[in-house]
Amino acid sequence: MTLPAAQPTTQDNIYALTEEQLQAGLEALGQPKFRARQVCDWVYRRGVTSFDEMTNLPKDLRADLAGRYRFGHLSLVTSQRSQDGTEKRLYRLPDGQLIESVLMPYGDGRRTACISSQAGCAMGCTFCATGQMGFERHLSAEEIFEQAQRFSADLQRRGERLSNCVLMGMGEPFHNYDNVVKALRLIMERLDIGARRITVSTVGLVPKIKRFAEEGLQVKLAISLHATRDEEREAIMPVNKRYPVRELIDACHDFVRATGRRVTFEWALIQGQNDSVEEAARLAALLRGLLCHVNVIPLNPTAGYGGAPSDPERVGAFVQTLEERGVPATVRMRRGIDIDAGCGQLKSSAEQGLAPLVQIEG
Ligand code: SAH
Ligand code: SF4
Repeated sequence: MTLPAAQPTTQDNIYALTEEQLQAGLEALGQPKFRARQVCDWVYRRGVTSFDEMTNLPKDLRADLAGRYRFGHLSLVTSQRSQDGTEKRLYRLPDGQLIESVLMPYGDGRRTACISSQAGCAMGCTFCATGQMGFERHLSAEEIFEQAQRFSADLQRRGERLSNCVLMGMGEPFHNYDNVVKALRLIMERLDIGARRITVSTVGLVPKIKRFAEEGLQVKLAISLHATRDEEREAIMPVNKRYPVRELIDACHDFVRATGRRVTFEWALIQGQNDSVEEAARLAALLRGLLCHVNVIPLNPTAGYGGAPSDPERVGAFVQTLEERGVPATVRMRRGIDIDAGCGQLKSSAEQGLAPLVQIEG
């Protein structure tokens, strides 16, 4: 039996090259200027992931290019599809790190990718499966981009398109600020996704919120709040010791003033912890005068945290209290609840051998 040859490591990652760099490479092979555009069209508009499929390129050029360039570095370990259509993927990076991405299809045609910015997370939120793992490393801009690219390519191949992107997978995007901003630009330019269809969610790193306001991007900002009082927020989100609630809300006011854009607050409802109507009233008071929206989502239970999701009556009362006080709020569905689609949960289950995983490719 002959074993397949190991992947040559000398190939350049095509996703890491600008069109100009690709053009320089092609011109060095004696190719005309328009080749780079042709290749980029295949890659970013038609979702092609092999040179063989680029039928308007000469055959020997295709073989030559296949030896020089590879299509990214993420290798799919497993994939799960939920009954609601949500698809969750676990990828392995070349150094063995595992990261997750999720694709959520909506009835109105939206196709939203939820992607990771780090392997693990250093922020240690107690209720979060990724926080429970600890921090491994930052992802490069290309590794972040490639997660969106992979969904985009698959959708293009079935005549659909990736319409939205959220950085709500594993990791804290603003802890990996530069790579995240670079990835956002790649997603907008290459996948033609408008800034207003992209959301970055942060645990609340105040200096980075200020920097993000000055970035000149129209990308949406979401803040994971989950508690209004420092003592309670600190108990579940250690970052609050560094950036307490008042400072965080002040930074949000600055952000709205600087950008004119609304901020979204994420609120995971934990039964008996942060789901009382009193807490909803405190939240409404805290957000008074701020252009914002609250997304309420019942907690996704995780192995390392004892809390339970609030029951529907408490969810309803919480949202109603916010709305009565003039704070717009939406209850988010827990997507893919049957497939461990919460942040970091597929990786945890895979490592414990719990998830009914389907092996897709090496
Ligand atoms: N690190 C960023 C983005 C990734 S987490 C952040 O914290 O904002 C994406 C969202 O999922 C955050 O709002 C986070 O608080 C929330 N989240 C994490 N674990 C959760 C769980 N078990 N149930 C419900 N929401 C959770
Ligand atoms: Fe990190 Fe976000 Fe999870 Fe907190 S909720 S540990 S910041 S990924």
